[in-house]
Amino acid sequence: MHKKLVLIINSGSSSLKFLLINSKNYKKFLTGIVECLYLKNTNISWNTKNISIKNFYLKSYTTHQEALEFIVNDVLKKKMNIFNNIIAIGHRVVHGGKEIKNSVVIDLSIINIIKRSSCFAPLHNPVNLLGITTLIKIFPSLRKKNVAVFDTSFYQKLPETAYLYGIPYIFYKKYGIRRYGAHGISHSYIMKKSAEIINKDIKSINIISCHLGNGASVSVIKNGICIDTSMGLTPSEGLVMGTRSGDIDPSIIFYLYEKVNMKIKEIKDLLTRKSGILGLSEVTSDFRFSEKKYFFDKKAKRTVDIFSYKLVKYISSYFFLIAKEIDALVFTGGIGENSILVRKLTVLQLSNLGFELCEKFNNKNGFKSNFRISSKKSIPILVISTDEELEIAKETIRLIN
Ligand code: AMP
Repeated sequence: MHKKLVLIINSGSSSLKFLLINSKNYKKFLTGIVECLYLKNTNISWNTKNISIKNFYLKSYTTHQEALEFIVNDVLKKKMNIFNNIIAIGHRVVHGGKEIKNSVVIDLSIINIIKRSSCFAPLHNPVNLLGITTLIKIFPSLRKKNVAVFDTSFYQKLPETAYLYGIPYIFYKKYGIRRYGAHGISHSYIMKKSAEIINKDIKSINIISCHLGNGASVSVIKNGICIDTSMGLTPSEGLVMGTRSGDIDPSIIFYLYEKVNMKIKEIKDLLTRKSGILGLSEVTSDFRFSEKKYFFDKKAKRTVDIFSYKLVKYISSYFFLIAKEIDALVFTGGIGENSILVRKLTVLQLSNLGFELCEKFNNKNGFKSNFRISSKKSIPILVISTDEELEIAKETIRLIN
């Protein structure tokens, strides 16, 4: 039987992905997701070799804690009877602040650092932490077998030129204000998978990796090391995202405060929860909506065009950091893996740099797999299905061993 399984928890602001993986051979035993947390239609789906449950309705407005309890008590204990086979738990944590540089086994001091770093990732760190504390309570015997894998670890070697802001240096020294990056677990997986696909040693791989989901970021990797990334002190900087504005002139904040009489809390809410695709489309943060209406709805068109234009700006500036050495441009995340339109609009604007699509390949969507979408004469362009849970699992197994 499945003796030694590792449970992986990846909590986002409104969803929670989970994975049970065999610690010996890395075979996935169970994958699952809870979607629409805190909404009316919270639902759970999970898959094993023999069972596939799709969109099973949980109670309305389910919280993260209730979802975790359901996963453990109902799915793992009652339905699957594999509770006792779990030997360790791996958690995704978005921000490790200044102090944490690598994945770690969780103890009280780590919990305190994650808490302190919550101000840098307010939509993520608190729910990541909740996952940790809830599961330590449910599995007291695994107290010393909980591992935290941080998105910020991937950016430890960013050069000072990339991570410092143009503000007085003392603010970095005293308060840790610098660019930390995010989505590092996904970009790390993409880097390794690209090396495998291209058949190149990871130490010499040069790619631009675009993680385009509800959160979105671009990272440029030179010789297997990330040298710049679009997210900053918090996951708010960079591209236009589901509900986050991405880059803005900081003076907008002063203007809203001084002239529009908005409170700081309201401005924060505006820029993190009401902007981006939601704000531009004026309907929803769900990218599928704007994509579907692109050709006959003005608002949808501007949303997709702006999203794509900002992406082009990042890709082209990062291109010059690796230039002719580039091995591939990679798309991933819900939008990157699925939006034929975004990939097309983006690559069209990059034609001067040597990127060209093969339309036939680009139209080949809907598989959870990796494929090439560039023409023969183009710099390679790949679509890779990201797997943050597998990346967390590998780190967790490495540490508990
Ligand atoms: P993620 O955060 O990676 O799960 O990605 C979520 C985003 O991907 C949402 O904006 C979705 O609307 C978008 N998305 C998912 N499927 C598709 C699709 N088939 N076409 C375009 N966008 C999609």
